[in-house]
Amino acid sequence: MDPASPPTALTAAKVRMRELAASYGTGLPGRDTHSLMAGLDGITLTFMPMGDRDGAYDPEHRVILINSQVRPERQRFTLAHEISHALLLGDDDLLSDLHDEYEGDRLEQVIETLCNVGAAALLMPTELMDELLERFGPTGRALAELARRADVSATSALYALAERTDAPVIYAVCALTRADEPGGEGGARELTVRASSSAPGVKYSLSIGTPVPADHPAAVSLDTRLPLSQDSYVPFRSGRRMPAWVDAFPERQRVMVSFGLPAGRLNVEAAGAASPEGP
Ligand SMILES: [Zn+2]
Repeated sequence: MDPASPPTALTAAKVRMRELAASYGTGLPGRDTHSLMAGLDGITLTFMPMGDRDGAYDPEHRVILINSQVRPERQRFTLAHEISHALLLGDDDLLSDLHDEYEGDRLEQVIETLCNVGAAALLMPTELMDELLERFGPTGRALAELARRADVSATSALYALAERTDAPVIYAVCALTRADEPGGEGGARELTVRASSSAPGVKYSLSIGTPVPADHPAAVSLDTRLPLSQDSYVPFRSGRRMPAWVDAFPERQRVMVSFGLPAGRLNVEAAGAASPEGP
């Protein structure tokens, strides 16, 4: 979400982009690389080293280029992003709405945002998210399952799932600091928040880099390799602890976490006195 921009035009464009991507996805035989391209007539796909760039779509030569040197899960998201560029260029109404509303760098920025929205919608159909939310609830487990089933990064899954969640929940992907990271040298490895996103209407957020105390269920779960679900708290960076139902699901070097806030948290803050983080 981008709270700094005027919501109406961008929100409407995101809705349209999601529809475009979803309807494109419905017609595909699958979501693997080959299948993802199946709906684009006459557009070819080329993998090549591209330095800092993840990929590109060249409408003139009708070719999608993907950087072959980044990790596969990122290549996959980039492919869906470039396909979204092609879908967007094929929608004259959406395109002219965007040109009416934005210009210059801001237009480029909005288009990039929309193509990420399209990529997420293409790789993570709402049916899949709803199925997982129904089966596992809005939990760390659901987040891990979404990343696995859709074959996307935990971060991509986190943003998509948060947006699809009705309950007052904050999601986070937490991982241990590595030795080559700031704060990771010499001392003990620390569990920190790597990505976080809150369900719509939740006024609280967890900042990147927030440390997770060693006795928090998220840390215990990663330590013991066992999923945990229990009453605990949100470890805000300010040091404040907000009571929450915590669901932690460990996976390799990371742990996917959901913080279920008391139901009142969704609306209480709308009355004002909200601080961006913590109660
Ligand atoms: Zn792009």
